[in-house]
Amino acid sequence: MPGVDPRSPRAPSAGHGDAHVERLNALWKLSVQRGLDDAGRIRAMLAMAAGVLDMDLVVLGELGDRYTARYVSDRLGVFPEGTELPLEQALCHRVHQSQTPCHIADLATHPEYAADPLVVSLGFRTYSGIPVVAGDEARWVLAFLRRRSESPPDAVDVAYMELIADWLGNALHQSAQKDLLQRIALTDPLTGLPNRRAAEERLHKERARAPRDGCGFALALVDLDHFKMVNDRYGHAVGDEVLRAVARRFEAGLREGDWVARWGGEEFLFVLHGCLAEEAAGIMERLASQSRASPAQTSVGAIPLSFSAGVAAFDANEGDVLPMLERIDQALYQAKADGRDRVSTASQPQRPWNGASLRQALAENRVRQASQLIVDLRSGRAVADEALARIETASGEIVEARDFVDMAEGLGLMAEIDRRVVRDVMQRCVVRREQGGATDFAHFVNVSPQFLARRDLVEEMLANAMGYCETCSVMLGPVKPIVLELTERQHIVSLDRLRADLQRFIDFGFRLALDDFGSGYSSYLYLAHLPVSFLKIEGWLVSNLRRDRKVAGIVESLANFARKEGLRTVAEHVEDAETAKILADMGVDYGQGWYFGRPQLD
Ligand code: GH3
Ligand code: MG
Ligand code: MG
Repeated sequence: MPGVDPRSPRAPSAGHGDAHVERLNALWKLSVQRGLDDAGRIRAMLAMAAGVLDMDLVVLGELGDRYTARYVSDRLGVFPEGTELPLEQALCHRVHQSQTPCHIADLATHPEYAADPLVVSLGFRTYSGIPVVAGDEARWVLAFLRRRSESPPDAVDVAYMELIADWLGNALHQSAQKDLLQRIALTDPLTGLPNRRAAEERLHKERARAPRDGCGFALALVDLDHFKMVNDRYGHAVGDEVLRAVARRFEAGLREGDWVARWGGEEFLFVLHGCLAEEAAGIMERLASQSRASPAQTSVGAIPLSFSAGVAAFDANEGDVLPMLERIDQALYQAKADGRDRVSTASQPQRPWNGASLRQALAENRVRQASQLIVDLRSGRAVADEALARIETASGEIVEARDFVDMAEGLGLMAEIDRRVVRDVMQRCVVRREQGGATDFAHFVNVSPQFLARRDLVEEMLANAMGYCETCSVMLGPVKPIVLELTERQHIVSLDRLRADLQRFIDFGFRLALDDFGSGYSSYLYLAHLPVSFLKIEGWLVSNLRRDRKVAGIVESLANFARKEGLRTVAEHVEDAETAKILADMGVDYGQGWYFGRPQLD
């Protein structure tokens, strides 16, 4: 307002008490105002104090090795935030050292400060400095400067300045505590690396930024090999030392801008920028050879260590990081399965496979079948195979069952897929016999509850089977060479119903196998209700039995149980000779897995 002295709150007067209350009210309002972050609130506080006290410049500065102006309210535009000064040049240095407020009415006539650049070049004349204590840290000073020289501030203004300084001390302390808590929440305490939560947050940001930046990124998931043995042999504390040493090595091997996080126990996630999969794999290979060459240094000496890694490149078609994480997981699994101490690169994602393309594949007769051998573990003779459904896409790629079964189930298309696979299996069976194959060779085929519930399909299958069996003149034998594999993985309405659906096949001489036994999908309940001839021991148990005594115990007791019940056992996922030998010694009858042969497309 023209004519009104903007400095009126300073003048002690009859209204001074009211003005002081107003100042406090404004201070309180700002303290509780919503929608401001910590820094915003501090800046607003400085601006308010500058207005109330009619100051040209209010600075909240931090004193360490140098003076830094962290928060500034500057109506002259001469002293920006971030300005740094050597300590001896900072007016606030003395306040900081003495931890007592200081008020100078005229800097220009002050014996110590007259030559200071703030006075000479920027023309400041009055100065008030108040130490600010944030928690137990006294590294801050709040300074008020004005170009006009004045008498020193009165007691009310001084009280107000000190109140603001107190408030700022609290605000800085709280903000630092918040930062600290956040850092703790996002940091893995053992290695000091970002933890999984932090990594997930960062990943989503990377994903959002990638298309904008125009350069993608690659992910690598590392899992230390046989780390349990380190713990078992040297103890958990040394295991921890190894994890810390590995974390330091990984950090040191990063390129500028890349990062690594502790993803889980002894798993580390790398984000590598501007990389295609091959380049990322190259970076991980280099790290792997470093690990091979220089064992981890610990208090009990050097411990040799290798790791396996899965690598995948960002794919712009994927809307989310999740599929990418699944791909590196899969690739890591592959690296482990291929013998560890290696880097495996995930293939680029399958094009989205949807209901329409599945329907079209069925309409165009693109259900294919692969088969994988089942071998007698003692004699090494191939005794059976399992038929595995595949879909060929319109462009000729082969889609594996795990990538379409859930969808086919959901769309009610599984019965149709089973129908074709079963028909092909029976044809193959005939061809095999006609070519003089062993008469006791069996064909395992997966059938879904959806298929078994369809009377028309069951009748059709039985009619086909009868026809084929006549051709091969196996009509009379009670046991036919087809084994139906059942799994609880798919939802069934009731076991009694399933049993009824299966009865015709059982009467005809087909046998039953319980798939995934031990996985939690197939339970003893199934075994109790159904006349099962084969138990297929779940792959995870088989993959882990060499490493884990408990797992080995489970497999052995399954084999014993099956033998007692007159059931044959088939171990899935047999990937090496040693596992095959252990299984044979345990009395498991048959094995299936890459060691004996991968699924072959028929
Ligand atoms: P593989 O080659 O298959 O990876 O074998 P592995 O022995 O490394 O097996 P796995 O990855 O399944 O097991 C990881 C082990 O890491 C099990 C767990 O006890 C150990 N581990 C996880 N977190 C920590 C940790 O913070 N400190 C220590 N010392 N050990 C940990
Ligand atoms: Mg692991
Ligand atoms: Mg491991």
